[in-house]
Order: sequence, then C-alpha cells, then structure tokens
Amino acid sequence: MIEIDWYANVGRCFPEPGTIKKVNCGVCGAQMKVRRNVLGPTSWAMTVVGMKRRHDSFTCPRISEDWHERIVHLKMYVYSAGMGWKIDYDKKKKAAAKEIKKLLKKYAAR
Ligand SMILES: [Zn+2]
Repeated sequence: MIEIDWYANVGRCFPEPGTIKKVNCGVCGAQMKVRRNVLGPTSWAMTVVGMKRRHDSFTCPRISEDWHERIVHLKMYVYSAGMGWKIDYDKKKKAAAKEIKKLLKKYAAR
C-alpha cells in the first residue's frame, strides 16, 4: 500500500551546498538528480528581487511529466482546502488520495 506524505517536497529542493547527499522525490519517490554548488535564486521571491545564493539543486527526473504535476496540484489543493477549514475537507482529501495513489501505481512504479 502506498502512503502519501502530504508535506513532502514537490520534486525539487535547494539545501545549502554539500549538506545533503541524496534526496528522494516527495511526489514519486525517485532519487533526484543533483547539481552541486549552483549560484542562483532558490525561490520565486528571490527571482523577483534578483537575489542569488549558493545551493545544491535537487530535481526529480520526472518533474515535467503531466502526472507528476497533477499530483503536486492535488496536494496543494488539499493543503489549501485544509487552510480554509472547508467542511468537506475529509472528502476532498480522500478523493485526492485516491487519485494520487492511482497515478503513482500507474506511472511511478516503473
Ligand atoms: Zn518525482
């Protein structure tokens, strides 16, 4: 059975250089590709103001695949439903979990 980590990374992360050896994707569980000691922005806000910092850039090899993006959207949807104290939150979460598991079964287990 697949357990969903609702608060895992979304297929990329940017730790301080050399601090983390390897990271698995929080969406599909694949080991992420890494570029070490990159200089660049690590958030949308940093991009806007033109800031850069040294970091290791981990990215899931499947990040641009449709089903992968769909899972990220489903997780964000459940997250925002939880923030808004939606009455049918549990129902929404259950439905999202069902779809995520289906997608993972179909695509991630390759
Ligand atoms: Zn992934």
